[in-house]
Amino acid sequence: MSYDDGLVQDKKLIGLFNENGIVGTFNLNSGLLGQTNTWRRNNAPDIIATYVSKDSLLDIYKHHEIAAHGATHLNFLNASDSAIYQDVMTDIKQLTSLTKMAVISMAYPFGSSNEHIAGIVRTTGITNARTVASTHTFALPKDYLLWHPTCHDSTALEMVNDYLSLKSNGLSVFNVWGHSWEFDDAKRWNDITNFCRKIGNRKDIWYAGAGEFTSYQLALKGLIFRQDSIINPSPNQTIWYRQRNKLHSLAPGQAIPASKEYSGIKYMVLQDLL
Ligand SMILES: [Zn+2]
Repeated sequence: MSYDDGLVQDKKLIGLFNENGIVGTFNLNSGLLGQTNTWRRNNAPDIIATYVSKDSLLDIYKHHEIAAHGATHLNFLNASDSAIYQDVMTDIKQLTSLTKMAVISMAYPFGSSNEHIAGIVRTTGITNARTVASTHTFALPKDYLLWHPTCHDSTALEMVNDYLSLKSNGLSVFNVWGHSWEFDDAKRWNDITNFCRKIGNRKDIWYAGAGEFTSYQLALKGLIFRQDSIINPSPNQTIWYRQRNKLHSLAPGQAIPASKEYSGIKYMVLQDLL
């Protein structure tokens, strides 16, 4: 679940996530925290946007991931390379300073992104960045710095049964994006509540922030397959695998003898990570 802008409506949404054991990634504009602004919209009522306050982040987003969204919500498609870099770096630094936690994820403001912009973001230490281009699939992203989500939350409920009945030995991901202020609409709130109740609190789903998920995938890609052994060179990431239907872990720095029995090592079981 990836939610943008950091308005006060995030609090209610987090209450729903917490009831259902769901983890969100919240993409914040650190330069706008604490402000109240009026958003003018074409053919729709204005929105009074009240951002959460700087001193409330650790309280509101406890158990969830805080991520970048540009310090000022700059449109990267109309900005110079140095302005893009500055807006992302400033956001990372300010959010890190406020929370004392690493910021490794982001969502592109306005969804504005392309290969060139992703290349700039890559140099800031961000490991994954979400767009707004829905794939309507549960496939893993090809490029984590241009991470096209499964869908906007307005269509998530339609897709939930497909996900829950998915039959696959491979990994999948259901990545939903949105804005908590849209749930001021009663029908939309009802839909997201039903979605969370259906998909939440299950043993066969790993509920993770985008950063945690990406770190695991990068460690998985980093495994070294030798003829006689499989090595996990990651300094801090345990990898999970199945052998004869039993779950095992491959600790950071650990090697195991190569065996056909766990040729399925690329298809990790995640439920016991929690
Ligand atoms: Zn935004």
